[in-house]
Amino acid sequence: MNVYDSARMADVLAPLGYEPAGSPEGADMIVLNTCHIREKAAEKVFSELGRLKQFKIAKEADGGRMLIAVAGCVAQAEGREILRRAPQVDVVLGPQTYHRLPEMIAKAMRAAPGAGVLDTDFPPESKFDHLPEEAASQGPAAFLSVQEGCDKFCTFCVVPYTRGAEFSRPVGQVVAEAERLVADGALEITLLGQNVNAYHGQASVEGAEIWGLGRLIRRLAGIDGLKRLRYTTSHPRDMDDDLIETHGAVKELMPYLHLPVQSGSDRVLEAMNRRHTADDYRRIVERLRRARPDLALSSDFIVGFPGETDRDFAETLRLVTETGFAQAYSFKYSPRPGTPAAMAECQVPEAVKAGRLAMLQTLLNEQQAAFNQMSVGKTMSVLLERPGRRSGQLVGRSPHMQAVHVSAPEHLLGRVVDVEIEAGHPNSLAGCLAGDRAAGAIDPGVGAAPDGPFRQAGL
Ligand code: SAM
Ligand code: SF4
Repeated sequence: MNVYDSARMADVLAPLGYEPAGSPEGADMIVLNTCHIREKAAEKVFSELGRLKQFKIAKEADGGRMLIAVAGCVAQAEGREILRRAPQVDVVLGPQTYHRLPEMIAKAMRAAPGAGVLDTDFPPESKFDHLPEEAASQGPAAFLSVQEGCDKFCTFCVVPYTRGAEFSRPVGQVVAEAERLVADGALEITLLGQNVNAYHGQASVEGAEIWGLGRLIRRLAGIDGLKRLRYTTSHPRDMDDDLIETHGAVKELMPYLHLPVQSGSDRVLEAMNRRHTADDYRRIVERLRRARPDLALSSDFIVGFPGETDRDFAETLRLVTETGFAQAYSFKYSPRPGTPAAMAECQVPEAVKAGRLAMLQTLLNEQQAAFNQMSVGKTMSVLLERPGRRSGQLVGRSPHMQAVHVSAPEHLLGRVVDVEIEAGHPNSLAGCLAGDRAAGAIDPGVGAAPDGPFRQAGL
């Protein structure tokens, strides 16, 4: 979402004459877009600000002026602290106020050095109603925010405090933006939201009709030229029947789903306020795989949540072993200021968290490597997104989100091509254009995928 927000900030700044610079050196303004989800991410902001200060000093020494703005969730949570600790910062703005950047810049230009401008409101107006149309193409694979914020209040998470209450953009606004993205060259759109499957958008300005994510996906899939759709991040509680059926019915919806479970222990899930059990998750996965047998699953895990015992952790390992993930993200629990879990007394020692994380990641890495190995010998449709590191190589994504390195000529960049997978590595695949269909083999976006649900051998 920060990638999307950064692109939209660039759109807001374009009418003022700003355009993206290749490096911070000599830039007129630097916008640092920040993440507050874990302590490490938040702490990085201050070290990064120290580094950026040098560019500002150098520009001033040359008689120029450079503005530094801090945006995003660290700005939202720690705005005043940023201005206190880093007086080189001119502007601090939250994730819901970046449509007001022009006013903030004008104020900062007039302000005395060191007098920072702060706007971390949750304004009554939606920023989406005030953003200009996209100034630059996002390329063949684009992001589109359809939902923001969260009302779920998991006890470990800062999102409800930094991004604010749950909000869904109206259907018409989403469809219009998707059509513009496709007109600008997007073949794939990833719908974004902190809880994207909680989407409940107003169908029309006057009407009371509300659309869920499944219906929105079916509508977007009808856009001429749009070949692939994805969405992230979803919550198990919001995986409704309509959305599950949509996975089986819409060929443009890629067979890959990021569905965070966090833990396999019901005791921990309850303490996290996730409001689902491990078996609820298993049942949802089963239904999804029935609807879309080749679905590849990804998830998020937190280890060392306060009070997590060895037995709880073993339940997480059991859920992973039984479910089989094509890839996953796993984190040590990071206490976040103001969240209930941070105040719990039964914090797990760092060394225990580190040991559990290593064990979980070993298992997840094995599953990912096995999934990638299963792809060898198959032909898959790949959207070629960027040049590879080696000449004559392009990099794209399989339907299952695997990075695929392909020997292919540059003119195929931004196309969906059939690729024969020759090698499976821990984090990626390698292949060549499928046979003599090569240059002309542009398919509708869904190629032959690994057969059946992915399960660890022997289960
Ligand atoms: N809304 C999604 C859900 O409910 O699953 C997750 C969105 S959250 C922005 C992304 C991931 O960050 C979470 O799934 C969780 O695994 C991780 N995360 C959030 N807070 C964390 C914390 N305090 N410590 C460690 N990981 C955390
Ligand atoms: Fe955070 Fe997701 Fe829980 Fe919302 S549902 S509080 S975004 S982890």
